[in-house]
Amino acid sequence: MLIFDNPDTMRQWSRSQSTAGKKIGFVPTMGALHRGHAELIRVAAEECDTVVVSIFVNPTQFNVAEDFDKYPRTLDSDLTVATDAGATAFYVPDASRMYPEGFETYVVPGHTADPMEGAGRPGHFRGVTTIVTKLFNTVEPHVAYFGEKDFQQLAVITKMTKDLDIGVRIRPVPTVREHDGLALSSRNVRLTPEHRSQAPIIHQALSAAAEQLLAGRSVGDALNVARNLMDSIAACRVEYIDAVDSLTLDPADVNHESGTIVVATAAWFGDVRLIDNVRVDMTGA
Ligand code: AMP
Repeated sequence: MLIFDNPDTMRQWSRSQSTAGKKIGFVPTMGALHRGHAELIRVAAEECDTVVVSIFVNPTQFNVAEDFDKYPRTLDSDLTVATDAGATAFYVPDASRMYPEGFETYVVPGHTADPMEGAGRPGHFRGVTTIVTKLFNTVEPHVAYFGEKDFQQLAVITKMTKDLDIGVRIRPVPTVREHDGLALSSRNVRLTPEHRSQAPIIHQALSAAAEQLLAGRSVGDALNVARNLMDSIAACRVEYIDAVDSLTLDPADVNHESGTIVVATAAWFGDVRLIDNVRVDMTGA
């Protein structure tokens, strides 16, 4: 198993792969790998000659220190899950190497990072864009794989690579779900059994909103239907539920020029914050 913890040796290895004509796929993760991550790696392995998986719990994207401390760390099983899915090499740097004393340069995202996750987690996307840039500069992949589960993250990173002329193709991968619709997340293991049984309401509510939109109801009505469903579960606290244009992230009732609306939500069960979204293709509606 090839594991690099140093940016210089990681880059050297990647360059040797590129020089040998290999197409490098890259899957950045924070570890605690599950079938959602495995799907990203599997798709990368199908499309590329070599697949680098990074595992790094990035402190600058957590705005609550406690959430960072509580984040599950399961390196041994992560290496197995990723290898089984087709990973060729791992980049596992430590925080002191990524953010040494005197670190002061950040990549600051724009408008795309403002609503939803950006509103509720100030500074979160600045941490994401900064770490992803650092990882891209080290791994030098041809293609990077990101889950649609983190839809706004995907939008922010796609915009960043375009705006900053970063020569990495961003490849979205659809959300992997449990049988009852709950999106796989590293945070699901922290749900109590009762909350776990209630959490599928999130996907049910999003799907109901999508149906309403496709049936021609207004964005406001569709969001109300979804919110009422989530509010029917006392334990479910909705932080936001929004419908936005899939590319600009402008409110969908103002502009959905891309033809696709994304209905996205963040909701709490106890101290566990879950996010999810559905894409609604309005071109035929
Ligand atoms: P994370 O380790 O949570 O930062 O996630 C690493 C990557 O895995 C991100 O691109 C996520 O969007 C993606 N991911 C997480 N959960 C899922 C899922 N259920 N389905 C598809 N991709 C996912």
